[in-house]
Amino acid sequence: MSENGLTILTWHSIDASGSVISISPRQFSDQMAAIADAGYRGISLQQALTHREVHAEWPARAVVLTFDDGYENFVSSALPAISRHGFSATVYLISRHIEGINDWGPPPEGLGNQRMLSWVQVREMVDAGIEIGAHTCTHPDLRRLDSARAREEIAGSRNEIEDQAGCSVTTFAFPFGYRSETVDDIVRSEFTAACTTQLRRASSELLHELPRIDVYYLQKIGLFGKALDGSLDRYLTIRRWGRIVKNAVVD
Ligand SMILES: [Zn+2]
Repeated sequence: MSENGLTILTWHSIDASGSVISISPRQFSDQMAAIADAGYRGISLQQALTHREVHAEWPARAVVLTFDDGYENFVSSALPAISRHGFSATVYLISRHIEGINDWGPPPEGLGNQRMLSWVQVREMVDAGIEIGAHTCTHPDLRRLDSARAREEIAGSRNEIEDQAGCSVTTFAFPFGYRSETVDDIVRSEFTAACTTQLRRASSELLHELPRIDVYYLQKIGLFGKALDGSLDRYLTIRRWGRIVKNAVVD
């Protein structure tokens, strides 16, 4: 297996509220253009995994675009730019919040109530070539559940999405990035791959603990371009990341 790295980026809500999980539609559109201008393409995690299986390495000049939670604004404010460039993406859904709002916990300051995607929209996204992944039924801290309930959250969300959206769901994202041995065992038995929230580029990681870089940190410091080719990893030590994350949260 080659040591070629793979950048996996994470967005949540594409809106102009300025919350810690929001990127504005304008900025998102600029980010997609920056990917294309750099000669890269945005792909889904499944596309990256398929390439890796066939070629024994991650795809070159590609960046994986992931969206957590399933905000409805993905369709109005992200999908047009993704489609314009011929990109794909992976959207991780909280299955029981489809058709609902973001009330699985208090929303970040400034975000307020947001509508989540509907099943009709999810089916349209599948038709548009978007990969749908699972992000549990209710977005719990999985570490706090016994194994039967954790399995219901993890496999249950996958089953519900497959039933409702008519697509196969092979990848998972851990809510809050929280994991335990029990949770990891279940995820490994139910999915091909899973994403965490560790701020790194993926290289030869185990497929069920793939690191991702939250775009929120890149917008604050203008490092988006550096995240694409891996120079971000060389540029930033873990300690610097810590400082950036701290500053971003305080801001
Ligand atoms: Zn989430």
